[in-house]
Amino acid sequence: MTREELIGKIERQKRNKNAIILAHNYQRPEVQDIAEFIGDSLELARKAMTTSADIIIFCGVDFMAETAVILNPAKKVVIPDRGAICPMAQQLPADSLLAAKREHPDAEVVLYVNTLAESKALADCICTSANARKIVNAMDTQTILFGPDRNLAYHAQQATTKTIIPVPEHGLCPSHHQIVMDDLLTAKSAHPDAKVIVHPECIPEVQDSADYITSTSGMVKICHEEAADEFLIGTEVGLLYRLKKETPEKRFYPISNTAVCPQMKMHTLANIETALENEEPVVVVPSETARKAKKAIERMLAIP
Ligand code: SF4
Repeated sequence: MTREELIGKIERQKRNKNAIILAHNYQRPEVQDIAEFIGDSLELARKAMTTSADIIIFCGVDFMAETAVILNPAKKVVIPDRGAICPMAQQLPADSLLAAKREHPDAEVVLYVNTLAESKALADCICTSANARKIVNAMDTQTILFGPDRNLAYHAQQATTKTIIPVPEHGLCPSHHQIVMDDLLTAKSAHPDAKVIVHPECIPEVQDSADYITSTSGMVKICHEEAADEFLIGTEVGLLYRLKKETPEKRFYPISNTAVCPQMKMHTLANIETALENEEPVVVVPSETARKAKKAIERMLAIP
């Protein structure tokens, strides 16, 4: 089957089954091109809440699809490749979080949305890379257990007098850890007039050298609004396709070409077509886990 035939088949299946495709900003270009909506993890979950589609083909990693299920239990959420498992979310299983909670009984728990549903169910509040600073300051306790990304914990710590304890101590995103200071210095000397925008999953030294530290959706917004016409982008390279497509008059350079998330690239036109045809694999979250996790997500959504 040619690529055009495959795309035609996907489009027909979507119409026949009242299905939509939601794609994360890091997806392959061809997947972004056939999606009804592209965004970050929270935007995708919110989109899932408002769609009238019966089936959501979720092109992202496991914790994102789980979040969509938690917020929309009545919808059928299908992930084309079940192997799309975020390695950072795996770094904080529920038993590790329970042990940390026992050690710090007076601390509230704030978890990055990049966590497993079983861990979200144990949190007091969820945060995203966009609102982590606001959320930690809105919590009731002076000490906060924060996981699983120690770099996002660093970003939050710069904006609060509270004590933030990372759980686990060394949680990180392997893709964003590919972006190192040498890459940034090389990119800056090649493009001295470019604005530097990095994700808070980057290491502290890279964050401290940036003009902006923000989520992927924040990056899209800044690149639309900033007067500059050159940008050095410090995140997973998939975002550059969207930036170039939406603002073709500007120039974008990845700080590191090796910042690639293999799990995000697992969804292809072929396995999306198969997922639509078979309506599986369906993402399932046990109802009690979903109920508790939803409470932590709703606390975040209630913070203005
Ligand atoms: S980019 Fe990092 S945090 Fe995002 S899915 Fe990949 S490993 Fe997980």
